Amino acid sequence: MADTVCETYKNRREWLATACTSTCVGDPEVKKKCIRTCRKFLVLHPELIQISFRILATSSADAKKIYGPLGCLKRWFTRLKWEVRDDGCLITSQNIAVSLLFTCPDEISHNIDLSWSEFVTTQISHRKGMHDLPSLNLKATTKHLKKFDEVDQKIICKYLAGAFAYGDKNLHRGTSDGLCQFCSAPDSLGHKIHVCPAFQDIRDDHLHTLQWIKEN
Ligand SMILES: [Zn+2]
Repeated sequence: MADTVCETYKNRREWLATACTSTCVGDPEVKKKCIRTCRKFLVLHPELIQISFRILATSSADAKKIYGPLGCLKRWFTRLKWEVRDDGCLITSQNIAVSLLFTCPDEISHNIDLSWSEFVTTQISHRKGMHDLPSLNLKATTKHLKKFDEVDQKIICKYLAGAFAYGDKNLHRGTSDGLCQFCSAPDSLGHKIHVCPAFQDIRDDHLHTLQWIKEN
C-alpha cells in the first residue's frame, strides 16, 4: 500500500511526514509532494489507476479508520472540503473540478493553497475577536516573512505550524522535565512569549502586540 504513493524508500519519508504532521494544520507543501509522487507512481503503473481511485473515493476519512497512504490522502482532501470521485476527479472547496492524474501540478497546487487558506482560517475563527477574519493572504504573508533572515524564517514557520513542542507538552509525553532550557522555570508557549527573561530584549520591541495577545 505504501508503494501506491511512494515508489522509493527516499520518498516514503514524505509519506511518513504526511502521516505524522499536525492533525490540526499540517504543511500543504508536504501533501503537494505526496500528490506528485502518487501521480508519478500511477503513470508507471496504469493497471493500478482504477483501484487506487476507487480506494480514494470509498475510504473513510475517520481518523480511527485510516488505512495506508491513500487513506491519509483521502482524509486530507476531506479536511480541505474536497470531494473525491472514483474516476480520479476532485471537486475543490471552490467547486472547481481537477483531475488527480491529468490537471497540471501548478493548477492543483494553486487550488490547494486556496482551500488550505480557508481551512486555516476556519481553525482560528472560533477565537475571540477572530470570527470575521478574511481568508489568509499568502502573498502578503510571504512578503512579510521575507523581511526576516533565513534562520528566523524557519523558526517562525515552525512556530506557526506547531512544530515546536514546549516543556509542558514534552513533560506530558515523558520526554522532558517540563522546564525552560533558558531559565529553568516551568515551560509553555505563554512562558516563551510573555515571561522568559531570555527573550526580554525582543519583547521590548513589541509591547503593543504582546498586550493585544494577552487581551485576546
Ligand atoms: Zn524561560
